[in-house]
Amino acid sequence: MAEQRRDADGDEARAWDELVATARRTVADGLVVGTSGNVSVRVGDTVLVTPSGVPYDRLTPADVTGVDLAGRQVLGTLVPTSELPMHLAVYRTTGARAIVHTHAVHATAVSTLVTELPAIHYMTGALGGPVRVAPYAPYGTPELAAHVLRALDGRSGCLLRNHGTLTHGDTLDRAYDRTAQLEWMCRVWLTASSVPGLSPSLLSEAELAEAGERLRGYGQR
Ligand SMILES: [Zn+2]
Repeated sequence: MAEQRRDADGDEARAWDELVATARRTVADGLVVGTSGNVSVRVGDTVLVTPSGVPYDRLTPADVTGVDLAGRQVLGTLVPTSELPMHLAVYRTTGARAIVHTHAVHATAVSTLVTELPAIHYMTGALGGPVRVAPYAPYGTPELAAHVLRALDGRSGCLLRNHGTLTHGDTLDRAYDRTAQLEWMCRVWLTASSVPGLSPSLLSEAELAEAGERLRGYGQR
């Protein structure tokens, strides 16, 4: 079956530039080593994704890679990320417009220790509540995508057991920022809980709910 490939339109070309910049930022900020993470952004019913195994500093505007919501490639010739099923499942099920997936070190460490990140900081509210850990399944499988969807219920981010992080947002910047906040909270919890003889205080459900409310009104609006 011949696949229908077309050229990227203006919106897609702009979104690709932002996607490449975001992917490079995950490496520069130490959230990803090499090509071990992936980033995607939705433009209409097209999902632009980082290609599999290409270092982000080598990606050019000519490398636009995109699929439809069923996973059929409509833009480019590079093979999309192997973790595409997880990205598509999130777009099909939530209002997400952008997704960042990393193997950030502290978040991945926490994913091996607990089933939910303890509420160590009020920024938990920025992700919709305590961050769940999706059970392990091999990368790229529909099983992993299903686990991730359950872990994301009511949240904009989750951990993937023995694997990493996934966050989404209405923009690439928002999705990226949630990953950075999640990694930072995991680092705080690991640091606080590694002091011998002491265990960290945690926020109550009421405290988290109040923080969530305040965060919704935070910023320049
Ligand atoms: Zn991964």
